[in-house]
Amino acid sequence: MQQRPRFPAQLPEARNRANAAKPMAGPAPSPVASRPGAVAAVAQPQGLGLDSPALRSRMLQKLVAQGVSDPQVMAAMAAVERHRFVDTALVNQAYEDTSLPIGFGQTISKPNVVARMLELLRQAAPGRLGRVLEIGTGCGYQAAVLSHLAGEVYSIERIRGLHERARDNLRVLRLPNVHLLFGDGMVGFAKGAPYAAIIAAAGGDAIPQAWIDQLAVGGRIVAPMSAGGAKQALVVLDKTAQGIQHSVLEPVQFVPLKSGLA
Ligand code: SAH
Repeated sequence: MQQRPRFPAQLPEARNRANAAKPMAGPAPSPVASRPGAVAAVAQPQGLGLDSPALRSRMLQKLVAQGVSDPQVMAAMAAVERHRFVDTALVNQAYEDTSLPIGFGQTISKPNVVARMLELLRQAAPGRLGRVLEIGTGCGYQAAVLSHLAGEVYSIERIRGLHERARDNLRVLRLPNVHLLFGDGMVGFAKGAPYAAIIAAAGGDAIPQAWIDQLAVGGRIVAPMSAGGAKQALVVLDKTAQGIQHSVLEPVQFVPLKSGLA
């Protein structure tokens, strides 16, 4: 029987046990979630004259106008201050429906796209999601939103600088159910499997088999995927007792899913 990780994974005791565990094939991501009680390493953009609750409620109104209707997703989006995740120079764009640079050539997804993907995840399993795997932590924004919708969130990032940035961003929020991992998300994170849902913020040519293997029966993957040439489309994959069902939805634009670490 597969050994389950102990929760919360960020307890020092649990970390030691995880380190003592056998290495996985390929570069094993290491759980290094935010440490409770740690002092924030970076100054958060505060006191910038930003009326963040008002801006956020305007962002929510826009999401409703764009067709987002899941109240749980709305509540999660309302709870997370997106401006904390972007550069100080960009805070006044934080609640616009736009993707923004987060460094290392990567971007934080548009609020509308985050909401859409989370709605799709939740449609497969009404109620609180169990364990969720996120591929592409980036600045940690979507992981923070997910923490309000799921029991446990495992989020993997392959760029060390971004993984560290996300850790700094999330530390102050003290979200004990978010576990940040530095590793290649192409191989998923077998120690946390099976997952109720897997969400990717980077698009490849196909859904990696490891994700399908690590998805629970009844679970759903929502990911961008290449739709020929430079085009991408949102893909929903459901793993049922009868087999895999696959639907291709609207065109999207995400950064590429890359293998290896950076
Ligand atoms: N959810 C993020 C969006 C980040 S953009 C946020 O809220 O900010 C997508 C991220 O996917 C990038 O940071 C990129 O480095 C990462 N990525 C691409 N391929 C990956 C892989 N194989 N494993 C883990 N992360 C990957």
